[in-house]
Amino acid sequence: MLPSFFESVVQLIVRTSTDLPPDVRAAMKVARAAEPEGTRSSQALTIIAQNIDLAVDTEGAICQDTGMPTFEVKTPVVANQIWMRQQIREAVAEATRRGKLRPNSVDSITGENSGDNLGPGTPIIHFEQWQRNAIEIKLILKGGGCENTNAQYALPVELPHLGRADRTLDGVRKCILHAVWNAQGKGCAPGAVGVCVGGDRTSGYIHAKEQLFRTLDDIMATVNDLDIGTMGFGGMVTLIGCKIGALNRLPASFFVSVAYDCWAFRRLGVELNASSGAIEHWLYRDPSHPIIPMLDQAGFTRTGKEVALDAPLTDEAVRSLKVGDVVMISGRMFTGRDAVHSYLMKHDPPVDLRGAVLYHCGPVVVKEGDNWRVTAAGPTTSIREEPYQGEIIKRYGVRVVIGKGGMGAKTLAALKEHGAVYLNAIGGAAQFYARTIKQVDGVSLLEFGTPEAMWHLTVEDFPAIVTMDAHGNSLHKDIEQDSGQHLEAIGTSR
Ligand code: SF4
Repeated sequence: MLPSFFESVVQLIVRTSTDLPPDVRAAMKVARAAEPEGTRSSQALTIIAQNIDLAVDTEGAICQDTGMPTFEVKTPVVANQIWMRQQIREAVAEATRRGKLRPNSVDSITGENSGDNLGPGTPIIHFEQWQRNAIEIKLILKGGGCENTNAQYALPVELPHLGRADRTLDGVRKCILHAVWNAQGKGCAPGAVGVCVGGDRTSGYIHAKEQLFRTLDDIMATVNDLDIGTMGFGGMVTLIGCKIGALNRLPASFFVSVAYDCWAFRRLGVELNASSGAIEHWLYRDPSHPIIPMLDQAGFTRTGKEVALDAPLTDEAVRSLKVGDVVMISGRMFTGRDAVHSYLMKHDPPVDLRGAVLYHCGPVVVKEGDNWRVTAAGPTTSIREEPYQGEIIKRYGVRVVIGKGGMGAKTLAALKEHGAVYLNAIGGAAQFYARTIKQVDGVSLLEFGTPEAMWHLTVEDFPAIVTMDAHGNSLHKDIEQDSGQHLEAIGTSR
């Protein structure tokens, strides 16, 4: 068999998780240059740029959500695909052991995490034969936040702010605009979309995702007029790429499928020698060209207006904050996402949450001797906790909730009533935030798996932006309304 195949696949996974490809870097540099200095989007892009550099320097995961590993493999006609599939699965488990992939494969009925990213349907591996005597493997790691913002439209359809999308190219255009508008900051904008026009419901989504394997070289115009901006903070750049493919369809169906990917657009590929399995060359990146850093500086760029917060917090400290404030948090912080929120609805918390900071985060954590170390710790999408958050704030006295993408009306009302704030951290900035964690003090509910456990952390100068305050204001609500008006103007401009 191919003696180097396994190690080549491990290398592909590690590099994909830790080193953003040059076309995405270039698109993010353009995005950064477009945002005026000192704006919220510009500050967020600076953190993202640092995060990209830190990840490659330390071979750490760019984002803690390493997503659903999806492999597209092309093999010569005689290749043994059964053996290759097994090797790829073992390589995925090995990369997970090395902390380059977060354990992300969860039994859909019991909720149990397999711990090694293996399980029914994970990873996804598609094989195709070709006439060449070489093996090509492409990999994309697409996280849950952006996966949840995918959309599929059956035309004709009435769309909010845009009117009817007919079975025409203009109808397709409206669907793309609507999908990007609907994603707001939840998919960690600026992102890129792969689009399939036609096919059936299944093939449409697959083909849309396949478009994300194309090199980003687009000039975006109309969609950036939405002014959603980085993380949905408002700004000049909302999308860094749009790739469109088409499949034939049934006469009765006209689907437009949109696969949204975030700025942490992790996809790479390799071509392997068909006899040894050794890497002959990389796709999307040329190793003879050195990696050009995104930034020539380190650390958070302070404007002098940042508000220092020491946790746990008082009612007074929280009520003095307003939307738009940039805060630097130090002290104790607890992580909690889906499993923890569900648990807290039925049980008392394992720690005292009065005045506490609750961080929506599923970190990558490795055990070193008797101690734990967090190697990647960006925020997860908060809206999933909307059904629970207000009640948890009320019952246990949480004062600060940190996540990304914002929350809804129930949480906003609870913030006002009980004196709490919602802070938006920069989605995907997993390496940047991991460095603000000075110590892991403990862990509760580890039986939920490492991403879902409640980690007790001590942080120092953890930056975030107040996007929902204790006075009923929500930046997310405002941006959604404003961008909706822009969408209406764009939709009627043709
Ligand atoms: S950057 Fe955001 S959307 Fe993308 S994988 Fe990370 S958390 Fe999810």
